[in-house]
Amino acid sequence: MERVIMIKYGELTTKKGNRNFFVKELYKSIMNKLDGYNVNIFKDLSRMYIEFDNNDLDKILKRINNIFGIHEYLVAYKVKTSEETIKETVLDIIKNEKFDTFKVETKRSYKEFPIQSVEFSRIIGGLILKNTESKKVDVHNPDMLLNIEIRKDYTYLYTNYYYGLGGYPNNTLGKGLVMLSGGIDSPVAAYLAMKRGVHVEAVYFEAIPHTSLEARNKVIKLCEKLAKYTHNVKLHIIPFTEIQEAIYKTADEEYVITIMRRMMYRIAERLAKRRKCLALVNGESIGQVASQTLTSMSVINNVTNMPIIRPVACLDKLEIIDISKKIDTYDISILPFEDCCTVFVPKHPVINPVLDLCIEMEKRFDYEEMIKKTMSNINTLTITENDKTEFDDLL
Ligand code: ATP
Ligand code: MG
Repeated sequence: MERVIMIKYGELTTKKGNRNFFVKELYKSIMNKLDGYNVNIFKDLSRMYIEFDNNDLDKILKRINNIFGIHEYLVAYKVKTSEETIKETVLDIIKNEKFDTFKVETKRSYKEFPIQSVEFSRIIGGLILKNTESKKVDVHNPDMLLNIEIRKDYTYLYTNYYYGLGGYPNNTLGKGLVMLSGGIDSPVAAYLAMKRGVHVEAVYFEAIPHTSLEARNKVIKLCEKLAKYTHNVKLHIIPFTEIQEAIYKTADEEYVITIMRRMMYRIAERLAKRRKCLALVNGESIGQVASQTLTSMSVINNVTNMPIIRPVACLDKLEIIDISKKIDTYDISILPFEDCCTVFVPKHPVINPVLDLCIEMEKRFDYEEMIKKTMSNINTLTITENDKTEFDDLL
């Protein structure tokens, strides 16, 4: 019997005018993720069907489990639409199923099929009862729910289904630039933005020799984890040492972090424009540290007009940690290498910074010149799920 993977879109179907576009992008995502497998993919407005090699099934399902925009997926038997064939298939299916109670549910989208759904379920239920011993129908909580979807040429039969990740397909909402430190919060922020259809590129600020190559490696590893949900992740590495040292030398100590973050935002905005990203994404969470009070956030935010998406702004740390464990970034994030925020952290960072003071302190060095220089020294890596990192233009 032929089996196919059936994909259901869920939330996509509420996007009436854009449905075709969303389905097309989802199709692209699936093609990308199943690159290298011998598959045929067919789509209509509510479903996709994937024909596969039996040997690959587990690996393919694992990949599908990481594709945004999929509401449900399942493995169905695909047979010719005829009463006799369907009956034979049902008898085959129940041989492999363990159950005491069952229910049959028929959907008949092919209205010319001569038997109505309810009646057909009743007929198939009778067939199962006749061919088994001591099985019972339970319409409320059956051990086995046998679904029969009758379409024009083919009928699909299945008992189990799995929930997909939901969300919108990769890239349907445009591109965002995620500020990715090695910490717990920003990879979670990236994941949540991706879930809403934002294709992310990542930017990482490093201050070698104050930060180590291990810290950079951590960020690369995090990108590999994020790449599971997309085709690949571009990581832009910003040499931040000169700017950071200048801030450290010239700014009042309690303002060092505030000004550093304003510089990061300035650079991130320019990079985002260069890369045609429509928004910045970061892992700020209200109140978590001194630079994330509302006053701090507004003073820091003041240097840019770009939309800033903060997916974890209103989550508790424990909620963020939960997600980071689920997406498998937690163990990488807690590795002890310091990033450039922790190296230069003052004893008493300002909680309520004053904008005018920031502007005045920033006049103490020629940051425009330094930013320009930095912008011409960015290293970009293309990171894939399989560790096949390609070095685009690494110095
Ligand atoms: P995280 O756990 O993500 O490191 P955090 O709680 O340590 O966050 P901060 O260090 O204040 O908080 O950083 C807030 C956000 O700023 C980070 O979530 C990240 O988006 C961005 N950020 C901080 N440091 C860097 C860096 N070195 N490179 C890129 N982005 C950074
Ligand atoms: Mg951090």
